Amino acid sequence: MGWVTEHHPTTAELNACVQCGLCLPVCPTFRLTGRETASPRGRLHAMSAVAQGIVEVDESFASIIDFCLGCRACEPVCPGLVPYGRALEGTRAEIDAQIPGRSSRHRWAVGTALGSRALMRLGGIALSVAQTLGLTGLAPRKYRRASNGLRRLKGRPRSSIGHAGGRGDSGTVGLLAGCIQDEWFRPVNQAAIALLEMAGFTVVVPERQTCCGALAAHDGKADAAKRFQTRNTDAFGGYDYVVATAAGCSAHLADYRWMGHEPETLDVTVAVARAIEDGRLPRVSASNGPIAIQDPCHLRHAQRVVAEPRAILAAAGYDVVEIDEAGLCCGAAGLYTMLQPEASDRLGSQKADQVRSTGVSRIASANPGCEMQLRSHLEAAYDIKHPIEWYFEALTTPGIG
Ligand code: SF4
Ligand code: SF4
Repeated sequence: MGWVTEHHPTTAELNACVQCGLCLPVCPTFRLTGRETASPRGRLHAMSAVAQGIVEVDESFASIIDFCLGCRACEPVCPGLVPYGRALEGTRAEIDAQIPGRSSRHRWAVGTALGSRALMRLGGIALSVAQTLGLTGLAPRKYRRASNGLRRLKGRPRSSIGHAGGRGDSGTVGLLAGCIQDEWFRPVNQAAIALLEMAGFTVVVPERQTCCGALAAHDGKADAAKRFQTRNTDAFGGYDYVVATAAGCSAHLADYRWMGHEPETLDVTVAVARAIEDGRLPRVSASNGPIAIQDPCHLRHAQRVVAEPRAILAAAGYDVVEIDEAGLCCGAAGLYTMLQPEASDRLGSQKADQVRSTGVSRIASANPGCEMQLRSHLEAAYDIKHPIEWYFEALTTPGIG
């Protein structure tokens, strides 16, 4: 039958692969299994076979695509410049269209719940109660890892949605609060607002915004992702910059098509590192000791942002210790912890061992999913925060900095 939607991988995208195999050693699922069908080249080959009508979009094809993390580690090493992430999203949209019903629960979660502030709030309250009563261990096994990795919600700060402030001489920022970030990682958004305002920006967190749509797009829910994008391009029209505090969100914002006024979309680490670089934010003079850094795939591989989080931690007085020079995926990858728990666990355990071998207990990670994965695989003594939180703490806490 071939492809049936407008989202499918194009012939140009698929033909860009010259089958060189340079992507195989950097692909986490190939490294786990050694199977060609678990490699970027193998998956592109399977997509080409569908395009040529040789194989159908069936459960067997879907399982090859499902096993992919979407980490995009294959993109920076690819001499053919294959837009693998785009081809993967298009293929997942095809699977969703051609095998209906196989993921109706995900459709509700990523297409409805994440876009509803009321439902996210309800989930936050329920989880807060479960954490207080020590009930998170009763969650079904495939959800337990994720719930174990969440921050403790007791006494959490207010949502930043609706905030407006700052001088504005550096320009205007519309801050994407993020669906999960706004409910469970509010201190990251608060640090972002404070730092960007210190750097001279006017910062607004528009009421009308919604989830960026990254999880929906990665899961093949193209219509929901488009719906979220349309609402956000309306909510963020008119700002100089749109800043996201989660690497997965900033990577997705970079692919938005804006109607008319096109703001510059930035990950918060880029905005803060630029402000430190040009002297709008200070460097602390004290030495705060070592800190280990983990690179989220959607920062390192999808946006090629590597130097900025390190520059922020250095400006906070920390000596940055590398966890993994190759930046291999930690296995979080959106819904992967729930959809492919065994592979996710193996990658999470590997990453935790790498962290332990640094001998450092402070960890910086710029993505909530990675933070949760690390926390769920590490002992309680490890302290994991976003790089801008470590920096903000160094600037504002007496005795630090
Ligand atoms: S590195 Fe690029 S061109 Fe080479 S096999 Fe992998 S996807 Fe194809
Ligand atoms: S996105 Fe990641 S898991 Fe998927 S093929 Fe590329 S390197 Fe492998």
